[in-house]
Amino acid sequence: MSVGLVRGSQVRVSLNRLRSRGSAAFFSPPGLLPPTRTLGLLHHVRLPFASAWSTPLGLPFPQGRLANFRGLTTETPSSSPSVENPYQTYSFYTFVNLPPERVVHLQRQIRRHLHEELRVKGRIYLATEGINGQVACPVSNVDQLRSYLLGYPEFQTLVLNEATEHSESFLKLIVTIRNQLVRDEVPPSQCDIAQQPEYLSPAEWHAELAEADPERLTLLDMRNNYESAIGHFKHATLPDAATFAAEVPMMRDLVRGKEKEPVYMYCTGGIRCSKAGAILKSEGFQNVRMLRGGITAYGRYIRETGLPSLYLGRNFTFDERLGEPISPDVLGECYQCSTPHEHYTNCVGKACNTLFIQCPTCAQTYHNTCGDTRCLDYVQNPPDPTNREPTRWNHIERVDPTVVKIRIQNNIRQ
Ligand SMILES: [Zn+2]
Ligand SMILES: [Zn+2]
Repeated sequence: MSVGLVRGSQVRVSLNRLRSRGSAAFFSPPGLLPPTRTLGLLHHVRLPFASAWSTPLGLPFPQGRLANFRGLTTETPSSSPSVENPYQTYSFYTFVNLPPERVVHLQRQIRRHLHEELRVKGRIYLATEGINGQVACPVSNVDQLRSYLLGYPEFQTLVLNEATEHSESFLKLIVTIRNQLVRDEVPPSQCDIAQQPEYLSPAEWHAELAEADPERLTLLDMRNNYESAIGHFKHATLPDAATFAAEVPMMRDLVRGKEKEPVYMYCTGGIRCSKAGAILKSEGFQNVRMLRGGITAYGRYIRETGLPSLYLGRNFTFDERLGEPISPDVLGECYQCSTPHEHYTNCVGKACNTLFIQCPTCAQTYHNTCGDTRCLDYVQNPPDPTNREPTRWNHIERVDPTVVKIRIQNNIRQ
């Protein structure tokens, strides 16, 4: 594991990971930390630099020095995961119509019980359309967590999914009220969330797709373009949208006139299809079929059964890994040299942070940046740490690799 040591809350995250894993590698500017510094002393180190640094690929930090803290054993606070009672990460969601006053009531009740009784950490979102959460729970309390949530009459259909990646970065429990669980810009009057699509188990999904005629199959990838760029189901239509809200009108165009035909859809964990399926069902589509548990559940099914995967490439994930392999196919390509490659990275330019695919050769050539002259300049001439950090210069570029690619090509031509 490689993490950047930063000021403020991210230092706490780093130390929390260090406690739970017992070892970590820190990149630090020259002279900051001698390699033999112990964790006990680290707590008292004042960090004399202002910038947040991290390299997702674990590549050598520019002009930096690696301080190793391997094999440290530290005392574990009682509220942190321990060997005897480790934390397990779960995600869950269910769409159900909740009156606004009920949402407020649920927020208070759930926060109090999960925090005080079950020592759960993580993020839970509540909206008038349902609940969505990603939480870490002590293994000994998982059954209580499940029965507590299912004890609410509204949450009878809620499924607690064990995550593939066990995140240790939750410091506390946050229960927030949102306008929507999945932002879609569809007026509530036009979408009845109770009209859910047909949920297919990974086995049913695999069997139906394996037998389907590719010429007549309507199979929609309901994820963003940068997710489907590194993996998708065979014969799927991949809308070129950077957000779910932008994808909804594209979905409508793709299925127009197919009200009576089967429309298949999938996403990472199912939540976006539960929403998209309800939108189509509300608009008169009779046979909308989605993959229960999403690609994550399908990947588990393929690993368990050994069947040939109908999903090619990687499943993009919103955690440190930025993706997990489902099949050995490489679908993505480096945005700088176009050679086949499947790993995403973030530009190390602090104000840029663009998400894009980069091969190891280009990572070296462009010093782990997107190639923008401002990012290269930032790495080669780090700013004076006493100055305030620069603000982001373009938010859109962070999530739209096509824009990045165009911009990079322009830079190369210049
Ligand atoms: Zn490349
Ligand atoms: Zn950049």
